[in-house]
Amino acid sequence: MPASARRPFKRPRHVPATDYEVVIVGAGAAGLSAALVLGRCRRRVLLCDGGRTRNYPSPAVHGFLSRDGIKPQELLRIGHEQLQPYPTVEQRENCVTTASRDPLTGTFTLTLDSGREVTSRKIILATGVMDILPTIDGMHELWGTGVLHCPYCHGYEVSDQPVAVYGCDKSVAGFALLISRWSKDVAVCTDGWTKMTDHARHRLQRHGIALYEQPITKLVGYANKTLRHIEFQDGSTLPRKALFIHPQQKQRSDLAIQLGCRILQRNGSVAVDKRILTTVPGVYAAGDTTPAAQQALVAAAEGAQAAISCNEQLTREECA
Ligand SMILES: Cc1cc2nc3c(=O)[nH]c(=O)nc-3n(C[C@H](O)[C@H](O)[C@H](O)COP(=O)(O)OP(=O)(O)OC[C@H]3O[C@@H](n4cnc5c(N)ncnc54)[C@H](O)[C@@H]3O)c2cc1C
Repeated sequence: MPASARRPFKRPRHVPATDYEVVIVGAGAAGLSAALVLGRCRRRVLLCDGGRTRNYPSPAVHGFLSRDGIKPQELLRIGHEQLQPYPTVEQRENCVTTASRDPLTGTFTLTLDSGREVTSRKIILATGVMDILPTIDGMHELWGTGVLHCPYCHGYEVSDQPVAVYGCDKSVAGFALLISRWSKDVAVCTDGWTKMTDHARHRLQRHGIALYEQPITKLVGYANKTLRHIEFQDGSTLPRKALFIHPQQKQRSDLAIQLGCRILQRNGSVAVDKRILTTVPGVYAAGDTTPAAQQALVAAAEGAQAAISCNEQLTREECA
């Protein structure tokens, strides 16, 4: 490490004194990437994570340049390890429970679940989202292995296999047609929802996609948590290798709401501009928490962008 990296940051007098320059909440792909960029800017950073990343149940991360197929926990391990050379980045296994902004100084006070209070000049929210699965027996147990959410992440692994698409709203037909690029044997299961339009039914039929409208009672898997078959209320079963679903989601944390950030009505994500800045000055948001495509690589890219925007804004304030 160059000796200069250890030099303590000299705060200009007009810059408010805080414990950290940036607090990053969440250490998934977005938060780790932001911490790496800010560590290399020699910024005093606190990186807090109080739980598990969204893809925790999945056996592999796919489509991540140079890391295709890596276990999610291994990707995180490498991410944490590569922060070690940067002494200005402090990592804590803590949940951040509250955050507020002082309108006079523009600085932030955050409370950790340990009870510790910290102050910061900027915040990056990289807190991710939570998937809300339908309450069907077997759905939770098979999530990430036999029940999949994204063909870009896992479609290749079930190429040309019999698969199903779950959905009880009008988006299910489009989702099934997308999945049909990976397999010709696709079935749509609406779990009792019968209001599909004639147009959607014809489209499915035209592309050889079968429609099962009866309620599902359970998903039956193998010991390795891949899907064996779908069982319906009428007693029939449908053998499938995987079930694709677009679950409902909610934000993992309400910190953006606490801070007064604008939340998009259509999907509950945190609104950001092209610099990844939210509508509240000094609060950045990156990764699944924003409206961008929910992919680990995109989250990492947004984290890097948030860090660059943050560093440039800090610099502007210091050099005013
Ligand atoms: C089953 C599954 C499989 C997937 N497979 C792939 C794949 O193969 N390829 C791919 O590109 N993408 C995949 N994804 C999507 C990928 O997981 C997400 O895009 C990625 O994890 C987003 O990264 P993130 O950093 O925004 O959020 P996350 O990875 O979810 O990280 C957010 C972190 O913030 C922490 N946190 C939340 N609130 C707080 C708080 N208040 N205080 C402290 N910490 C907090 C959480 O504990 C979590 O660790 C998959 C998703 C799922 C559900």
